[in-house]
Amino acid sequence: MSSLSLPILRTRRDWALGSGLLPPPAFTKPPPVASWRRFTLFWGGMQYERAMCAAITIRTFSNDLVERLQSKWSTIPETGFKLGIASDHVLVKRIGTPRIPAQQEPVWAGKPVNYAAKAAQSGDRHEIIVTRSVWDTIIANDYLAITCGCDGDGKPTKPTTAIWQDMTIERLPEDEREGRRLIAAWCKIHGPEFCAAILAGKRQRSDVAEARMWLNRAQMARAIRVKDATDRANRRRQAGLAR
Ligand SMILES: [Zn+2]
Repeated sequence: MSSLSLPILRTRRDWALGSGLLPPPAFTKPPPVASWRRFTLFWGGMQYERAMCAAITIRTFSNDLVERLQSKWSTIPETGFKLGIASDHVLVKRIGTPRIPAQQEPVWAGKPVNYAAKAAQSGDRHEIIVTRSVWDTIIANDYLAITCGCDGDGKPTKPTTAIWQDMTIERLPEDEREGRRLIAAWCKIHGPEFCAAILAGKRQRSDVAEARMWLNRAQMARAIRVKDATDRANRRRQAGLAR
């Protein structure tokens, strides 16, 4: 058993389509409706960046998958991946039949696996929900926090932070509840380049000064709003206790 400090990516999808991330080679009939969950641990350096790149890649695949399914069957139920990322210390071990991975299941002691699951469940399909501590880490990375500066087809637009939205994850405790929701996938043009830059440890871009200024301002305003709401809740609690 090992002790890790790491972000955890939790995925959920509503249809099981075979093992791993790849669908079967050909869809001959709609797959059965089922829930399928998986978590992945990242540790050992660059764990936040690697978790984010994995999540955005799965999110991008989620869109493509649903488009393919819908092009084949117009009446399929709503489906797609929900993703959540949390981080903290955790102990993980596989239990089951020795040397037969198919007959093993992971068990864990620590909160982040469940936090990531709750984050994933609180979002919609094709969304990535990150907890507060994850957002506080990745916000400084221009490649993750700010758009590529095109409309998805290569036509230049102003880089923006509008791909990230405030998100209160109701089922989490106060210190992790105020997370963020990412609604974007990799850009068809710039996605591979951005993914490679993030995994190479790059953080700063020279074309995003204005978006970065607005992001820092919004983050400051948000921190004040969250603090005010926490103070109000504490005052209400103390008033309730005093009665
Ligand atoms: Zn682009």
